[in-house]
Amino acid sequence: MPASRRVTRAVSEVLDMAPRRGEVSLPRLVEAVSDNRDRPIELTTADLPPGVCGQWRQYADRDVFLIQRGLPAWDRTLAHELGHLVLGHEGIPVVQAAMESTEVASSELIGYMLNQRTGCMGPSGEDAEQEAEDFAALLIYRLGRLPSDRSSIVQVRLGEAFG
Ligand SMILES: [Zn+2]
Repeated sequence: MPASRRVTRAVSEVLDMAPRRGEVSLPRLVEAVSDNRDRPIELTTADLPPGVCGQWRQYADRDVFLIQRGLPAWDRTLAHELGHLVLGHEGIPVVQAAMESTEVASSELIGYMLNQRTGCMGPSGEDAEQEAEDFAALLIYRLGRLPSDRSSIVQVRLGEAFG
């Protein structure tokens, strides 16, 4: 199914934020979105529960994208989480998430985190998941079609990207 106009527009907006010079990698795009919103977005790897690829945590003062450690297609997951953010998909309140999963039910998490969204796409995902997937696919496709000196999506390794 082709991506909706809403998704197509969001991908274009993100690509428009790309630095005008130098290579455009996914982490650079995340940085550009962060600058644009005037709100930091941190990238980090983490040992997430099995089957989870990525998680978006929304704190009062910043957003954090956690990517499952050792994930081979991390760029796809990062683009997916970015999709949730730019498409305005709210995560579920952490208190509710904590009630559903005792793993995250520490008072520290509940105190500092406003929302989180966790997931790995399955074929029958909710609408927001499908939208984030469409966003990720289109963003990666269009990144790959930038002039080769500007697209570094395949050259950037996870370690470099996450510093
Ligand atoms: Zn998702």
